[in-house]
Amino acid sequence: VLAANWKMNIGPVEAAKFIAQFLAEYSPQEGKTVAFFPPAVSIATVATLVKHRADIKVGVQNIWHRDNGAFTGEISPELAAEAGAYYCLVGHSERRNEFAESDDVVRQKFTAALRAGLAPLLCVGESRRERVDGRTSEVVGRQLRTVIGELDSSQIGAMALAYEPVWAIGTGDNATPEDASQVHRQLRLLLRQAAGPVNADRIPILYGGSVKPDNAARLLAAPDVDGVLVGGASLDVASWLQIVRA
Ligand code: PEP
Repeated sequence: VLAANWKMNIGPVEAAKFIAQFLAEYSPQEGKTVAFFPPAVSIATVATLVKHRADIKVGVQNIWHRDNGAFTGEISPELAAEAGAYYCLVGHSERRNEFAESDDVVRQKFTAALRAGLAPLLCVGESRRERVDGRTSEVVGRQLRTVIGELDSSQIGAMALAYEPVWAIGTGDNATPEDASQVHRQLRLLLRQAAGPVNADRIPILYGGSVKPDNAARLLAAPDVDGVLVGGASLDVASWLQIVRA
């Protein structure tokens, strides 16, 4: 799964141009799913343009965990699904840090996404301080367990997961392929314990954090890395195409 997180960039007009260019240059490739996470206002535009391509999915970057009602400015998972979203990003470090989303809010958003039939893509990752203190395993384990602890195996099987070390996001630093593999292996074991091997092994575990055209192939070749979640380098069609082809 190659996922592009556009964050607060690319409105509907630019999104239409981006997708037209992408579709002109990228044919489906066996075993690969490309996912775009545009800002909410561009979801319908992107979803309409990729409707005929089963290998391309659209996702929403954020939802509120209630189904509907008086929550001015928020988007429910149902509304995102109606606009064309398939995935729902949950627990991105920018939501956790800039918008003070706790593990519990992340859990509520995750279950709301599942309820609406969206596939939640949960992000976990440690801060630089936590890494220096040797707490990576504890932090990502807690972030995952808090969310999936109460769910049944088939619900867990519907998710996707991204390991995104916070110190690597937008910084130009990345985890080495070996470091990423090690954390992914730990996450896979936790998923197996919670959901059994059949459900756990179909969950893609993506790496995210300063993935660029020149490092994507090495990261994607690492054992237990099933894809990438890309911010900055997904904003330019040429660089995104290089990553998707890596
Ligand atoms: C992200 O936003 O999830 C991300 C990984 O960003 P970047 O690729 O810019 O580090």
